Amino acid sequence: HSKDGGKDRWTCFTRDLKDRSDQEAALEADLRRALQEDEFFLVFQPQVNLRTHQVTGVEALVRWQHPTKGELSPGLFLPVVEKTNLAAPLGRMVINKALMAARELKDRGLDFGRIAVNLSPAHLKTGTLMQDFQNAMDAHGVGPELLTAEVLESVFFNDPSHSNAKLLQDLHDLGLHIELDDFGTGFASLSHLADLPITGLKIDRSFTARLLTDRKKEIVTNHLIHLARALEINVVCEGVETDAQFERLRMMGNFSVQGYLIARPMPFATLTTWLNTVQSDVTFTVT
Ligand code: C2E
Ligand code: MG
Ligand code: MG
Ligand code: MG
Repeated sequence: HSKDGGKDRWTCFTRDLKDRSDQEAALEADLRRALQEDEFFLVFQPQVNLRTHQVTGVEALVRWQHPTKGELSPGLFLPVVEKTNLAAPLGRMVINKALMAARELKDRGLDFGRIAVNLSPAHLKTGTLMQDFQNAMDAHGVGPELLTAEVLESVFFNDPSHSNAKLLQDLHDLGLHIELDDFGTGFASLSHLADLPITGLKIDRSFTARLLTDRKKEIVTNHLIHLARALEINVVCEGVETDAQFERLRMMGNFSVQGYLIARPMPFATLTTWLNTVQSDVTFTVT
């Protein structure tokens, strides 16, 4: 290795880092502006019981309607949001819009089960979450029995002082459902299922995706579902895309599914039509 080659590599490396931090700073400024301009909106994806087809919940997912870049997925901006002090304002905005949607669905007499909101670890850390939910519930006249908070397993791991666990216990005591999102992708610990203040778990779509091709994945999924049911923990299976997956899951028990097979995430207006159709169609079958 020549010294110069090493130096070039180092220069490149530091330049890349600088480019990246410049990019992130630009994105952060853009995010701040977008919050002011109210460019974020929610799309909604239903969850249905795979036996009764009853709608058990609707997950709210954030989108950014960017003035020049078009509609942006959360994967493109949430990682930066998490590193800034924008996590709490964005989280509050999502809670507020989700509860506003819940209010409107109720007013229209549409059954949606519960509305599920994804909570970011950075928002949890600010300690304002209880108040944020309380304010939104008061503002929209929506009770906790209509709400689910989805959290990643990591919020319980990176939590040495148990402040997240306490906060989620408080939300649970208030009457919200608490669901572990993407279960099985992190350091999934089965003991958590018994110890944590959770009412449900969402089995990650990586399990669903390999259900029919990976016998071991199928066995784990099946036993997870039975363990959860035995502990009286709700189950939502994520990422159901095919009839074959749906049928295989149906053999495993009585729980809820979410995925493109049932419906893609959709804007509020489409959701009302979808719920209306499901509600009025007694012979509704998932196709
Ligand atoms: P998640 O909470 O696990 O949400 C499910 C994601 O899977 C969504 O992606 C959804 O569009 C996608 N999905 C649903 N069904 C299927 C399917 O059948 N097949 C496939 N391939 N994908 C499916 P999305 O909306 O891009 O969100 C990605 C992640 O971003 C979410 O994963 C969640 O962790 C995070 N996120 C989304 N909205 C919010 C939010 O408002 N706040 C926070 N903190 N995080 C959010
Ligand atoms: Mg989620
Ligand atoms: Mg998930
Ligand atoms: Mg996921």
